[in-house]
Amino acid sequence: MKAARIIAPNEPLQISELQVPKPQVNQVVVKVKAVGVCHSDLHLWEGGYDLGDGTFMKVTDRGVKYPVTPGHEIVGTVSEIGSRVEGFTVGDKVLIYPWIGCGDKCPACKTGQDNLCDTPKSLGIFQDGGYAEYVLVPNFKFLAKVSGIDLEAATSLACSGLTSYNAIKKATKNSPEYLVIIGAGGLGLMAVQIAKAITQAKIICVDLDDERLEAAKKMGADFVINSSVIGSVTTGSGNAAQKIMSICNNKGADSVIDFVNAPQTAKMGIAVLRKRGNLVLVGLFGGSINLQLVTIPLKAITIQGAYTGSYNDLVKLLELTKKGAIKPIISKRYSLSEANNALKDLKERKIIGRAVINP
Ligand code: NAD
Ligand code: ZN
Repeated sequence: MKAARIIAPNEPLQISELQVPKPQVNQVVVKVKAVGVCHSDLHLWEGGYDLGDGTFMKVTDRGVKYPVTPGHEIVGTVSEIGSRVEGFTVGDKVLIYPWIGCGDKCPACKTGQDNLCDTPKSLGIFQDGGYAEYVLVPNFKFLAKVSGIDLEAATSLACSGLTSYNAIKKATKNSPEYLVIIGAGGLGLMAVQIAKAITQAKIICVDLDDERLEAAKKMGADFVINSSVIGSVTTGSGNAAQKIMSICNNKGADSVIDFVNAPQTAKMGIAVLRKRGNLVLVGLFGGSINLQLVTIPLKAITIQGAYTGSYNDLVKLLELTKKGAIKPIISKRYSLSEANNALKDLKERKIIGRAVINP
């Protein structure tokens, strides 16, 4: 089978010829129909994350081994099953839950939060993912059957949908009147739709690009702000913050979800928070900021992170999508041999919503 693999950071992905995996016991082999191209694939391709002040966190220090086949938003059909697989047969249409953990040893996995496992084995990061004709799923319990919705559209539920869903649940514990969503990319546009479906909050969406903000409006954002037009990309955030404050009657936003999480967006997020406010950091753009410590107790704000989501949440999300509450945007399709172009286009902000690769 063919797979587009990252051989080394920042090197072009290579199309490799690999053996089709053979499923053992509980394992399942899925023939990939489509795989979403996520910004996290770009971080994996670049070799890690910007920690700010010139420091860099290498993914190899977190357990990634190159060469690796990226791709964690995977849908396809079951092509072969191990001897102990139950409930799935060859030909079933499935969405794969990629945030695989140790299963039952660490406290997170014991409570069904495999996505926060101490020793993660996520597909497309720590083991081969979906930029390939076939993918090996370590256990049938990580599959969800897809029916009643477009199979290709279901790709983005596995990461952009699931992460947004988890972040919105965290951000809306205080029943926000105003919810700010920073970044209207693959994750942010999903978040706008999910927030519309499960909260009453007025949604303010911030991005650097009018086309994305237009899409956000169509998905249900009540207000949109282009932070690059208001000021420059680096200094504009202050002005965008003022605009947010005026929308929120100068009291501030109850919750902010930052799908960029770079210094200028995180600073803006903290600046616009109302007392008791909630900042959920999701993006991995990176960098570092200084915190004015007294503002945290004085305003009793919460700053927290959100990392993907649980299998149970993925199932709930599939149900929401089936009801028509969420309509994932798949705006571009690539073949496997075009994987480098797909990543390049995402980096150059040429993709609205999600692009998929059809291996
Ligand atoms: P994307 O490239 O589709 O979207 C990013 C969006 O942010 C774009 O619309 C871009 O215009 C906007 N943007 C960039 N800089 C900005 C700024 N300074 N101010 C305002 N808007 C800005 O990316 P994506 O797939 O949506 O992923 C977003 C981030 O979330 C990535 O860093 C990705 O790795 C990360 N991510 C995190 C998790 C998690 O579980 N925490 C899961 C998936 C992705
Ligand atoms: Zn992702």
